[in-house]
Amino acid sequence: MVAENYQDVEERVLRACERSGRKRSEVTLIAVSKTKPISMIREAMDAGAKAFGENKVQELCEKYEALPKDLHWHMIGHLQRNKVKYVVDKAELIHSVDSLRLAEEISREAVKKGVQVKILIEVNVAEEESKFGVRTEDTEDLVRKAALLPNICICGLMTIAPYVEDPEENRPIFRTLKKLAVDIKKKNIDNVSMNVLSMGMTGDYEVAIEEGATMVRVGTGIFGERNYDL
Ligand SMILES: *Cc1c(COP(=O)(O)O)cnc(C)c1O
Repeated sequence: MVAENYQDVEERVLRACERSGRKRSEVTLIAVSKTKPISMIREAMDAGAKAFGENKVQELCEKYEALPKDLHWHMIGHLQRNKVKYVVDKAELIHSVDSLRLAEEISREAVKKGVQVKILIEVNVAEEESKFGVRTEDTEDLVRKAALLPNICICGLMTIAPYVEDPEENRPIFRTLKKLAVDIKKKNIDNVSMNVLSMGMTGDYEVAIEEGATMVRVGTGIFGERNYDL
């Protein structure tokens, strides 16, 4: 089932790229494997998946250890500062940086381990109270301050759009994040590239690609519903 789902999502990603005049290579499909077992991750790997997303540090580390080292792990969930030390050398990209204190901790651990860490700033574009992320208007300030820290590179922005019935409802959110990234890029801040836009999940990734996503994070669409009671 996972392999078929993955092929289906891959096909939809390709069509969304074609519709919007973009190359397939511009968009990374991240298979969000949180709560799912290693066996299902292997099925996705066999279908061609290389990038996986996790939202818990411990789970990411366990899966990292258990699976081949040529996979790319993305930390997409809220990150506590005391857990930063476990992920800085395992995650290819940390999508969920939403405070200077967190960026400082990532920088400190990156220096200690002698690695460069790529991060995205998480923006709460929809201003949902239940969500993490900086406000749209505070983003540039955080980017400027985090950009001064050693051993981290700010590669772009991430957002989690609201759950909606009709994905079209989230189009303005994706457009806002894209515009914000373009505006910040124009300021030519050292250490800031703004080339990565992580937006779009199972319900709305095609719309997100049409609006410029370079990374989509698809869980349910590949692995099926999650059961948190297990
Ligand atoms: C769980 C999760 C996803 C995947 O959600 P689906 O709707 O299952 O595709 C994407 N992004 C983040 C940050 C998540 O926590």
